[in-house]
Amino acid sequence: MQQSFDLAVVGAGIVGLAHALAAARLGKRVVVVDRDAQANGASVRNFGFVTVTGQARGQVWRRARRSAQVWDEVAGPAGIAVLQRGLTMVARRPEAQAVLEAFLETEMAEGCAWRGAGDLGERLPGRRGVLGALTSTVDLRVESRTAIPRLAAWLEAAHGVTFLRGVAVRGVESGRLETLIGDIRAESIVVCPGDDLVTLFPDSFVRGEVTRCKLQMLRLAAPGWRLPAPVMSDLGLIRYEGYADLPQAAPLLARLQAEQAAHLEHGVHLIVAQSADGSLVVGDSHHYAATPDPFARDDVDALILDEFAQVFGQAPPPVLERWTGTYASARGHSLVEAPMPNVRLVTVTGGTGASTAFGLAEEVIADLLGDAA
Ligand SMILES: Cc1cc2nc3c(=O)[nH]c(=O)nc-3n(C[C@H](O)[C@H](O)[C@H](O)COP(=O)(O)OP(=O)(O)OC[C@H]3O[C@@H](n4cnc5c(N)ncnc54)[C@H](O)[C@@H]3O)c2cc1C
Repeated sequence: MQQSFDLAVVGAGIVGLAHALAAARLGKRVVVVDRDAQANGASVRNFGFVTVTGQARGQVWRRARRSAQVWDEVAGPAGIAVLQRGLTMVARRPEAQAVLEAFLETEMAEGCAWRGAGDLGERLPGRRGVLGALTSTVDLRVESRTAIPRLAAWLEAAHGVTFLRGVAVRGVESGRLETLIGDIRAESIVVCPGDDLVTLFPDSFVRGEVTRCKLQMLRLAAPGWRLPAPVMSDLGLIRYEGYADLPQAAPLLARLQAEQAAHLEHGVHLIVAQSADGSLVVGDSHHYAATPDPFARDDVDALILDEFAQVFGQAPPPVLERWTGTYASARGHSLVEAPMPNVRLVTVTGGTGASTAFGLAEEVIADLLGDAA
Protein backbone atom coordinates (compact mmCIF):
# COMPACT_ATOMS: atom_id res chain seq x y z
CA MET A 1 0.00 0.00 0.00
CA GLN A 2 1.55 3.31 -1.14
CA GLN A 3 -0.35 5.69 1.12
CA SER A 4 1.29 6.47 4.44
CA PHE A 5 -0.50 7.22 7.70
CA ASP A 6 0.14 9.08 10.94
CA LEU A 7 -1.08 6.07 12.94
CA ALA A 8 -1.61 2.41 12.11
CA VAL A 9 -3.71 0.37 14.54
CA VAL A 10 -3.55 -3.42 14.53
CA GLY A 11 -6.87 -4.90 15.69
CA ALA A 12 -10.41 -3.63 15.12
CA GLY A 13 -11.85 -4.68 18.49
CA ILE A 14 -12.97 -2.01 20.93
CA VAL A 15 -9.38 -1.34 22.07
CA GLY A 16 -8.17 -0.73 18.51
CA LEU A 17 -11.23 1.37 17.62
CA ALA A 18 -10.76 3.47 20.77
CA HIS A 19 -7.20 4.29 19.70
CA ALA A 20 -8.37 5.10 16.18
CA LEU A 21 -10.99 7.48 17.63
CA ALA A 22 -8.54 9.23 19.97
CA ALA A 23 -6.07 9.81 17.11
CA ALA A 24 -8.76 10.80 14.60
CA ARG A 25 -10.02 13.41 17.07
CA LEU A 26 -6.51 14.93 16.91
CA GLY A 27 -6.88 15.17 13.13
CA LYS A 28 -4.52 12.26 12.40
CA ARG A 29 -4.67 10.03 9.32
CA VAL A 30 -5.43 6.59 10.74
CA VAL A 31 -5.51 3.07 9.29
CA VAL A 32 -6.95 0.10 11.20
CA VAL A 33 -5.81 -3.35 10.07
CA ASP A 34 -7.57 -6.55 11.17
CA ARG A 35 -7.07 -10.13 10.04
CA ASP A 36 -10.77 -10.99 10.28
CA ALA A 37 -13.41 -10.12 7.69
CA GLN A 38 -15.60 -8.64 10.43
CA ALA A 39 -15.36 -8.16 14.18
CA ASN A 40 -15.38 -11.58 15.80
CA GLY A 41 -13.41 -11.28 19.05
CA ALA A 42 -14.28 -10.47 22.65
CA SER A 43 -15.62 -7.07 21.65
CA VAL A 44 -18.71 -8.57 19.97
CA ARG A 45 -19.14 -11.48 22.39
CA ASN A 46 -19.46 -9.45 25.57
CA PHE A 47 -22.44 -7.97 27.42
CA GLY A 48 -21.78 -4.49 26.06
CA PHE A 49 -22.00 -3.43 29.67
CA VAL A 50 -19.98 -0.25 30.18
CA THR A 51 -19.49 -0.73 33.90
CA VAL A 52 -18.18 2.15 35.98
CA THR A 53 -19.56 1.12 39.38
CA GLY A 54 -17.27 -1.49 40.95
CA GLN A 55 -14.22 -0.95 38.76
CA ALA A 56 -10.92 -0.93 40.65
CA ARG A 57 -10.43 2.22 42.68
CA GLY A 58 -8.29 5.01 41.21
CA GLN A 59 -7.03 4.95 37.64
CA VAL A 60 -9.24 2.12 36.34
CA TRP A 61 -12.40 3.67 37.79
CA ARG A 62 -11.45 7.03 36.26
CA ARG A 63 -10.84 5.34 32.89
CA ALA A 64 -14.26 3.74 33.11
CA ARG A 65 -15.93 7.05 33.94
CA ARG A 66 -14.23 8.71 30.98
CA SER A 67 -15.10 5.76 28.72
CA ALA A 68 -18.78 5.97 29.63
CA GLN A 69 -18.69 9.67 28.69
CA VAL A 70 -17.11 8.85 25.32
CA TRP A 71 -19.70 6.12 24.65
CA ASP A 72 -22.35 8.78 25.28
CA GLU A 73 -20.62 11.20 22.93
CA VAL A 74 -20.26 8.75 20.04
CA ALA A 75 -23.45 6.70 20.44
CA GLY A 76 -25.78 9.22 18.81
CA PRO A 77 -23.59 10.16 15.83
CA ALA A 78 -22.64 6.51 15.22
CA GLY A 79 -26.25 5.29 15.41
CA ILE A 80 -25.61 3.15 18.50
CA ALA A 81 -28.57 2.79 20.86
CA VAL A 82 -27.88 3.00 24.60
CA LEU A 83 -30.29 0.26 25.64
CA GLN A 84 -29.94 0.43 29.42
CA ARG A 85 -28.55 2.91 31.92
CA GLY A 86 -27.21 2.32 35.42
CA LEU A 87 -26.81 -0.87 37.42
CA THR A 88 -28.90 -2.79 39.94
CA MET A 89 -26.38 -4.54 42.23
CA VAL A 90 -28.50 -6.87 44.31
CA ALA A 91 -27.61 -8.00 47.85
CA ARG A 92 -28.99 -11.43 48.76
CA ARG A 93 -27.07 -11.68 52.04
CA PRO A 94 -26.37 -9.27 54.93
CA GLU A 95 -22.63 -9.63 54.15
CA ALA A 96 -23.30 -8.38 50.60
CA GLN A 97 -25.35 -5.48 51.93
CA ALA A 98 -22.42 -4.60 54.23
CA VAL A 99 -20.06 -4.44 51.22
CA LEU A 100 -22.45 -2.19 49.35
CA GLU A 101 -22.96 0.07 52.36
CA ALA A 102 -19.18 0.41 52.70
CA PHE A 103 -18.91 1.12 48.97
CA LEU A 104 -21.48 3.89 49.31
CA GLU A 105 -19.10 5.64 51.76
CA THR A 106 -16.35 5.85 49.11
CA GLU A 107 -15.71 8.44 46.40
CA MET A 108 -16.66 5.73 43.84
CA ALA A 109 -20.31 5.92 44.89
CA GLU A 110 -21.03 8.93 42.70
CA GLY A 111 -24.52 8.42 41.26
CA CYS A 112 -25.20 5.43 43.55
CA ALA A 113 -27.82 4.83 46.27
CA TRP A 114 -29.11 1.98 48.44
CA ARG A 115 -32.71 0.87 47.94
CA GLY A 116 -34.52 -1.68 50.05
CA ALA A 117 -36.22 -4.61 48.32
CA GLY A 118 -39.62 -2.91 48.47
CA ASP A 119 -38.19 0.16 46.77
CA LEU A 120 -36.73 -1.52 43.68
CA GLY A 121 -39.83 -1.33 41.50
CA GLU A 122 -39.27 -2.45 37.91
CA ARG A 123 -35.49 -2.62 38.50
CA LEU A 124 -35.94 -6.16 39.88
CA PRO A 125 -39.04 -8.20 38.99
CA GLY A 126 -39.52 -11.08 41.42
CA ARG A 127 -36.97 -10.10 44.12
CA ARG A 128 -37.93 -12.87 46.56
CA GLY A 129 -35.09 -13.33 49.05
CA VAL A 130 -33.31 -10.11 48.11
CA LEU A 131 -32.46 -7.59 50.83
CA GLY A 132 -32.11 -4.64 48.50
CA ALA A 133 -29.70 -3.27 45.94
CA LEU A 134 -27.23 -0.58 45.18
CA THR A 135 -28.53 1.34 42.20
CA SER A 136 -26.36 3.53 40.01
CA THR A 137 -26.91 5.97 37.19
CA VAL A 138 -23.43 6.12 35.66
CA ASP A 139 -23.19 2.79 33.81
CA LEU A 140 -24.66 2.08 30.38
CA ARG A 141 -25.23 -0.79 27.99
CA VAL A 142 -24.99 -1.17 24.22
CA GLU A 143 -25.58 -4.23 22.01
CA SER A 144 -21.98 -5.05 21.16
CA ARG A 145 -22.63 -7.16 18.11
CA THR A 146 -24.14 -4.16 16.32
CA ALA A 147 -22.39 -1.35 18.22
CA ILE A 148 -18.85 -2.39 17.23
CA PRO A 149 -19.56 -2.53 13.45
CA ARG A 150 -21.44 0.78 13.70
CA LEU A 151 -18.59 2.43 15.56
CA ALA A 152 -16.15 1.27 12.86
CA ALA A 153 -18.44 2.42 10.03
CA TRP A 154 -18.81 5.85 11.67
CA LEU A 155 -15.03 6.19 12.17
CA GLU A 156 -14.64 5.50 8.46
CA ALA A 157 -17.44 7.83 7.31
CA ALA A 158 -17.11 10.72 9.75
CA HIS A 159 -13.40 10.65 10.60
CA GLY A 160 -11.89 9.27 7.38
CA VAL A 161 -10.32 6.28 9.14
CA THR A 162 -9.19 3.63 6.62
CA PHE A 163 -10.09 0.00 7.44
CA LEU A 164 -8.21 -2.94 5.96
CA ARG A 165 -10.05 -6.17 6.80
CA GLY A 166 -8.93 -9.73 6.19
CA VAL A 167 -5.31 -8.52 6.47
CA ALA A 168 -3.12 -10.32 9.01
CA VAL A 169 -0.16 -8.38 10.36
CA ARG A 170 2.90 -10.65 10.43
CA GLY A 171 5.47 -8.26 11.82
CA VAL A 172 5.89 -4.76 13.23
CA GLU A 173 8.85 -2.38 13.04
CA SER A 174 8.95 1.31 13.84
CA GLY A 175 7.19 2.99 10.91
CA ARG A 176 6.11 -0.23 9.17
CA LEU A 177 3.61 -3.10 9.37
CA GLU A 178 4.44 -6.23 7.43
CA THR A 179 1.20 -7.69 6.10
CA LEU A 180 -0.06 -10.22 3.61
CA ILE A 181 -0.80 -7.42 1.14
CA GLY A 182 2.57 -5.75 1.55
CA ASP A 183 3.99 -3.13 3.87
CA ILE A 184 1.90 -0.38 5.45
CA ARG A 185 3.79 2.75 6.48
CA ALA A 186 2.80 4.82 9.49
CA GLU A 187 4.74 7.18 11.74
CA SER A 188 3.27 5.58 14.84
CA ILE A 189 1.78 2.16 15.49
CA VAL A 190 -0.51 0.79 18.20
CA VAL A 191 -0.91 -2.99 18.37
CA CYS A 192 -4.22 -4.07 20.00
CA PRO A 193 -4.35 -7.82 19.34
CA GLY A 194 -6.82 -8.78 22.07
CA ASP A 195 -6.01 -12.29 23.23
CA ASP A 196 -3.67 -13.22 20.36
CA LEU A 197 -0.64 -13.56 22.59
CA VAL A 198 1.58 -15.42 20.13
CA THR A 199 1.77 -13.54 16.81
CA LEU A 200 3.12 -10.07 17.66
CA PHE A 201 5.46 -9.32 20.58
CA PRO A 202 4.94 -12.73 22.27
CA ASP A 203 7.85 -12.01 24.66
CA SER A 204 5.92 -9.11 26.18
CA PHE A 205 2.98 -11.36 26.97
CA VAL A 206 5.23 -14.02 28.48
CA ARG A 207 6.95 -11.40 30.65
CA GLY A 208 3.59 -9.95 31.66
CA GLU A 209 2.34 -13.47 32.59
CA VAL A 210 -0.67 -12.97 30.36
CA THR A 211 -2.92 -15.96 29.83
CA ARG A 212 -6.43 -16.29 28.41
CA CYS A 213 -9.84 -16.53 30.06
CA LYS A 214 -12.85 -18.34 28.59
CA LEU A 215 -16.39 -17.20 29.47
CA GLN A 216 -19.74 -18.90 28.87
CA MET A 217 -22.66 -16.73 27.80
CA LEU A 218 -26.39 -17.28 27.22
CA ARG A 219 -29.25 -15.45 25.57
CA LEU A 220 -32.64 -16.13 27.19
CA ALA A 221 -36.07 -15.52 25.68
CA ALA A 222 -37.84 -12.26 26.54
CA PRO A 223 -39.31 -12.73 30.05
CA GLY A 224 -42.23 -10.32 29.65
CA TRP A 225 -40.70 -7.61 31.81
CA ARG A 226 -38.20 -4.82 31.15
CA LEU A 227 -35.04 -4.06 33.10
CA PRO A 228 -34.04 -0.40 32.99
CA ALA A 229 -30.52 -1.36 34.12
CA PRO A 230 -28.43 -4.57 34.08
CA VAL A 231 -28.66 -6.69 37.24
CA MET A 232 -25.77 -8.24 39.18
CA SER A 233 -25.65 -10.07 42.52
CA ASP A 234 -23.50 -11.08 45.52
CA LEU A 235 -21.10 -13.16 43.41
CA GLY A 236 -20.08 -10.02 41.48
CA LEU A 237 -19.04 -8.30 44.70
CA ILE A 238 -16.05 -10.59 45.09
CA ARG A 239 -14.98 -10.24 41.42
CA TYR A 240 -15.14 -6.48 40.80
CA GLU A 241 -12.22 -4.91 42.65
CA GLY A 242 -14.03 -1.70 43.56
CA TYR A 243 -16.08 -3.84 45.98
CA ALA A 244 -13.79 -6.86 46.44
CA ASP A 245 -10.86 -4.78 47.72
CA LEU A 246 -12.98 -3.37 50.57
CA PRO A 247 -12.35 -5.11 53.94
CA GLN A 248 -16.10 -5.87 54.20
CA ALA A 249 -15.75 -8.28 51.25
CA ALA A 250 -13.86 -10.88 53.33
CA PRO A 251 -16.89 -12.12 55.34
CA LEU A 252 -18.94 -12.26 52.12
CA LEU A 253 -16.25 -14.34 50.40
CA ALA A 254 -16.17 -16.75 53.37
CA ARG A 255 -19.95 -17.19 53.23
CA LEU A 256 -19.96 -17.69 49.45
CA GLN A 257 -17.20 -20.28 49.79
CA ALA A 258 -19.45 -22.18 52.18
CA GLU A 259 -22.69 -21.75 50.23
CA GLN A 260 -21.74 -21.44 46.54
CA ALA A 261 -18.45 -23.31 46.23
CA ALA A 262 -19.28 -24.67 42.75
CA HIS A 263 -20.05 -21.17 41.48
CA LEU A 264 -16.70 -19.94 42.78
CA GLU A 265 -14.85 -22.94 41.35
CA HIS A 266 -16.05 -22.02 37.85
CA GLY A 267 -15.73 -18.28 38.37
CA VAL A 268 -19.50 -17.87 37.95
CA HIS A 269 -21.16 -14.58 38.72
CA LEU A 270 -24.35 -13.04 37.38
CA ILE A 271 -24.87 -10.24 34.92
CA VAL A 272 -28.32 -9.93 33.32
CA ALA A 273 -28.57 -7.37 30.54
CA GLN A 274 -31.53 -6.82 28.22
CA SER A 275 -31.65 -6.31 24.47
CA ALA A 276 -34.03 -4.21 22.39
CA ASP A 277 -36.22 -7.25 21.59
CA GLY A 278 -36.58 -8.03 25.30
CA SER A 279 -34.28 -11.06 25.28
CA LEU A 280 -31.75 -11.29 28.10
CA VAL A 281 -27.97 -11.61 27.79
CA VAL A 282 -26.91 -13.63 30.82
CA GLY A 283 -23.55 -14.85 32.08
CA ASP A 284 -20.87 -15.71 32.93
CA SER A 285 -18.07 -18.05 34.01
CA HIS A 286 -14.26 -17.77 34.05
CA HIS A 287 -11.83 -20.57 33.10
CA TYR A 288 -8.14 -19.76 32.57
CA ALA A 289 -5.71 -21.47 30.17
CA ALA A 290 -3.17 -20.57 27.47
CA THR A 291 -5.45 -22.36 24.99
CA PRO A 292 -8.93 -22.61 26.53
CA ASP A 293 -11.06 -25.43 25.17
CA PRO A 294 -13.95 -24.27 22.96
CA PHE A 295 -16.68 -26.24 24.74
CA ALA A 296 -19.54 -24.71 26.75
CA ARG A 297 -20.37 -26.99 29.70
CA ASP A 298 -23.99 -27.49 30.61
CA ASP A 299 -23.24 -27.79 34.32
CA VAL A 300 -21.58 -24.37 34.24
CA ASP A 301 -24.57 -22.86 32.43
CA ALA A 302 -26.77 -24.46 35.12
CA LEU A 303 -24.83 -22.59 37.83
CA ILE A 304 -25.38 -19.28 36.03
CA LEU A 305 -29.09 -20.05 35.62
CA ASP A 306 -29.34 -21.11 39.26
CA GLU A 307 -28.13 -17.68 40.37
CA PHE A 308 -30.63 -16.10 37.96
CA ALA A 309 -33.45 -18.10 39.58
CA GLN A 310 -32.33 -17.05 43.09
CA VAL A 311 -32.18 -13.35 42.22
CA PHE A 312 -35.38 -13.10 40.19
CA GLY A 313 -37.38 -15.61 42.25
CA GLN A 314 -38.53 -17.38 39.09
CA ALA A 315 -37.32 -20.02 36.64
CA PRO A 316 -35.18 -18.60 33.82
CA PRO A 317 -36.84 -18.27 30.40
CA PRO A 318 -35.74 -20.71 27.66
CA VAL A 319 -32.19 -20.46 26.35
CA LEU A 320 -32.07 -19.10 22.78
CA GLU A 321 -28.30 -18.96 22.22
CA ARG A 322 -25.08 -20.09 23.86
CA TRP A 323 -21.56 -18.92 23.05
CA THR A 324 -18.13 -18.64 24.54
CA GLY A 325 -15.68 -15.77 24.39
CA THR A 326 -12.07 -15.33 25.44
CA TYR A 327 -10.02 -12.39 26.60
CA ALA A 328 -6.40 -11.78 27.57
CA SER A 329 -6.02 -12.10 31.32
CA ALA A 330 -3.33 -11.08 33.82
CA ARG A 331 -3.04 -9.29 37.13
CA GLY A 332 -3.85 -5.65 36.69
CA HIS A 333 -6.06 -3.78 34.27
CA SER A 334 -3.92 -3.69 31.14
CA LEU A 335 -0.58 -4.36 29.53
CA VAL A 336 0.79 -1.22 27.86
CA GLU A 337 4.34 -1.40 26.52
CA ALA A 338 6.61 0.50 24.14
CA PRO A 339 8.47 -2.38 22.51
CA MET A 340 10.04 -0.10 19.88
CA PRO A 341 10.20 3.66 19.28
CA ASN A 342 6.78 5.03 18.25
CA VAL A 343 5.14 1.64 18.79
CA ARG A 344 2.77 0.70 21.61
CA LEU A 345 1.38 -2.70 22.53
CA VAL A 346 -1.97 -2.36 24.34
CA THR A 347 -4.10 -5.18 25.75
CA VAL A 348 -6.78 -4.93 28.41
CA THR A 349 -6.10 -7.84 30.77
CA GLY A 350 -8.86 -7.30 33.32
CA GLY A 351 -11.86 -8.31 31.20
CA THR A 352 -13.18 -4.74 31.11
CA GLY A 353 -12.32 -3.45 27.63
CA ALA A 354 -15.83 -2.26 26.76
CA SER A 355 -15.83 -0.25 29.99
CA THR A 356 -12.33 1.23 29.91
CA ALA A 357 -10.87 1.24 26.37
CA PHE A 358 -11.82 4.81 25.47
CA GLY A 359 -10.19 6.24 28.59
CA LEU A 360 -7.10 4.05 28.25
CA ALA A 361 -6.69 4.91 24.54
CA GLU A 362 -6.77 8.65 25.23
CA GLU A 363 -3.88 8.19 27.66
CA VAL A 364 -1.86 6.07 25.20
CA ILE A 365 -2.48 8.41 22.26
CA ALA A 366 -1.60 11.50 24.31
CA ASP A 367 1.68 9.83 25.26
CA LEU A 368 2.42 8.55 21.75
CA LEU A 369 1.26 11.48 19.60
CA GLY A 370 1.15 14.22 22.21
CA ASP A 371 4.09 16.28 20.91
CA ALA A 372 2.86 16.04 17.34
CA ALA A 373 -0.75 16.89 18.28
C1 LIG B 1 -17.97 -13.15 27.10
C2 LIG B 1 -17.33 -11.85 27.45
C3 LIG B 1 -18.06 -10.90 28.17
C4 LIG B 1 -17.47 -9.67 28.48
N1 LIG B 1 -18.24 -8.70 29.04
C5 LIG B 1 -17.73 -7.45 29.17
C6 LIG B 1 -18.55 -6.38 29.56
O1 LIG B 1 -19.76 -6.50 29.70
N2 LIG B 1 -17.97 -5.16 29.79
C7 LIG B 1 -16.65 -4.95 29.57
O2 LIG B 1 -16.17 -3.84 29.79
N3 LIG B 1 -15.86 -5.93 29.09
C8 LIG B 1 -16.36 -7.16 28.88
N4 LIG B 1 -15.57 -8.17 28.41
C9 LIG B 1 -14.19 -7.86 28.07
C10 LIG B 1 -14.09 -7.11 26.75
O3 LIG B 1 -14.94 -7.69 25.80
C11 LIG B 1 -12.63 -7.14 26.25
O4 LIG B 1 -11.79 -6.58 27.26
C12 LIG B 1 -12.46 -6.34 24.99
O5 LIG B 1 -13.44 -6.68 24.03
C13 LIG B 1 -11.08 -6.57 24.39
O6 LIG B 1 -11.04 -5.81 23.20
P1 LIG B 1 -9.84 -6.02 22.17
O7 LIG B 1 -10.03 -5.01 21.11
O8 LIG B 1 -8.54 -6.01 22.93
O9 LIG B 1 -9.98 -7.52 21.66
P2 LIG B 1 -10.82 -8.18 20.46
O10 LIG B 1 -12.20 -7.72 20.43
O11 LIG B 1 -10.57 -9.65 20.59
O12 LIG B 1 -10.11 -7.62 19.16
C14 LIG B 1 -8.78 -7.93 18.82
C15 LIG B 1 -8.68 -7.86 17.32
O13 LIG B 1 -7.30 -7.96 16.93
C16 LIG B 1 -7.24 -8.68 15.72
N5 LIG B 1 -5.86 -9.19 15.59
C17 LIG B 1 -5.14 -9.87 16.50
N6 LIG B 1 -3.91 -10.15 16.00
C18 LIG B 1 -3.87 -9.64 14.75
C19 LIG B 1 -2.87 -9.61 13.72
N7 LIG B 1 -1.64 -10.15 13.90
N8 LIG B 1 -3.15 -9.01 12.54
C20 LIG B 1 -4.38 -8.43 12.34
N9 LIG B 1 -5.36 -8.43 13.28
C21 LIG B 1 -5.10 -9.02 14.47
C22 LIG B 1 -8.28 -9.76 15.90
O14 LIG B 1 -8.70 -10.28 14.66
C23 LIG B 1 -9.39 -9.02 16.63
O15 LIG B 1 -10.36 -8.50 15.74
C24 LIG B 1 -16.12 -9.41 28.11
C25 LIG B 1 -15.39 -10.38 27.40
C26 LIG B 1 -15.99 -11.57 27.06
C27 LIG B 1 -15.19 -12.58 26.28
